[in-house]
Amino acid sequence: MAGAEIGIFGGSGFYSLVPGFTEVEVDTPFGPPSDTLAVGEIEGRSVAFMARHNRAHTIPPHKINYRANLWAFKSLGITRVLAPCAAGSLKPWIHPGNFVVCDQFIDRTRARRDTFFDGPPVTHVSAADPYCPELRKLAVVTGAAAGLTMHPAGTMVVIEGPRFSSRAESEFHSSQGWDAVSMTQYPEVALARELEMCFCGIALITDYDSGIEEVAPVSAAEVVRVFGESNEKLRTLLVSLVEKIPVTRECSCGSALTGARLSNEAEPEG
Ligand SMILES: [Zn+2]
Repeated sequence: MAGAEIGIFGGSGFYSLVPGFTEVEVDTPFGPPSDTLAVGEIEGRSVAFMARHNRAHTIPPHKINYRANLWAFKSLGITRVLAPCAAGSLKPWIHPGNFVVCDQFIDRTRARRDTFFDGPPVTHVSAADPYCPELRKLAVVTGAAAGLTMHPAGTMVVIEGPRFSSRAESEFHSSQGWDAVSMTQYPEVALARELEMCFCGIALITDYDSGIEEVAPVSAAEVVRVFGESNEKLRTLLVSLVEKIPVTRECSCGSALTGARLSNEAEPEG
């Protein structure tokens, strides 16, 4: 099977990375992932791209097989995951077209399979710092150099969807100090951590969430329209980022399972 070192998810409005990649079908113990993976090289680095909603946008956020998607990346040998997503702003100073590079998440989903460790062995992975600090810094610097407005940190609250928030929910999220809201970062980030892959969440802000500004409530069409406008910026950011990622990891993401197990009778599958 074709291998790759860097995995990139495509989200709403972002269904392909660069032309000329080879389509690779991957199956997993959890079922098929959202789509075939497009595998190829960017500046000598091997990359696999997957549209998390399928390139025909047929899979809503709450129906994505997140475990299959992350497992598929891992099975190709991927150690770094770049995960752009569309998100709503929860702060007046975070504007549509801006990018937020996440450093924390709040999980408000409720019906998703969010672990590979159903035991044994019983495994409790630390999620204190769920996003890779090395990739986050690199994303911020790379985006800023390309003239993009980058917010260097941010807390992403992830809602179950597929509906958007009520005004009261949105006001609550904003009042907590959280920065952006989306539907797919969780459990993606947590599952990547369980597989000891670095994960970089890059949120492209498409709208102000309904509790923030006196604007019309967000619509799906508006999200895709703004994402479409910023698609090229995102593509440029991702391609430059791939080139800059150091071959050797300096972060601790690769040892996320060290000390996480309470029993050692058996190693998990895979
Ligand atoms: Zn890392």
